[in-house]
Amino acid sequence: MRNGRRKRYSRDFLDFLNSSVDMAHLVKSCIKDRPWFHTSECRHWKCRCPFHHESTPSFTVYRDTEQYHCYGCGAHGDVITFVMEYKRMDFVSAVEFLIKEYTLWMKWAKHRRKIRKVVEKK
Ligand SMILES: [Zn+2]
Repeated sequence: MRNGRRKRYSRDFLDFLNSSVDMAHLVKSCIKDRPWFHTSECRHWKCRCPFHHESTPSFTVYRDTEQYHCYGCGAHGDVITFVMEYKRMDFVSAVEFLIKEYTLWMKWAKHRRKIRKVVEKK
């Protein structure tokens, strides 16, 4: 099967989406039933993994790269992957969920206007 549906969103928009959605915020809003911990550097968050059963937290959210990684089961990805896996959605549904949840069309329009201004100034 060719991945035709993916083409509905441009690479630019998907990059914008990835940089606009706060991974930690997204994951915390989905996983409310378990405690979160700071890692020692305070740059990352940890909790018990939503994708496999465990008693000590190995599911880590990296705030610098906006990605998650589980040292127990190897689950790994970005905000879109997380929604796909956690909510069992396909790619397009996951993107649509994030657009709605984070009012991304509005932000995208603003972002595009800003880019245009930068280009016109040159
Ligand atoms: Zn896991």
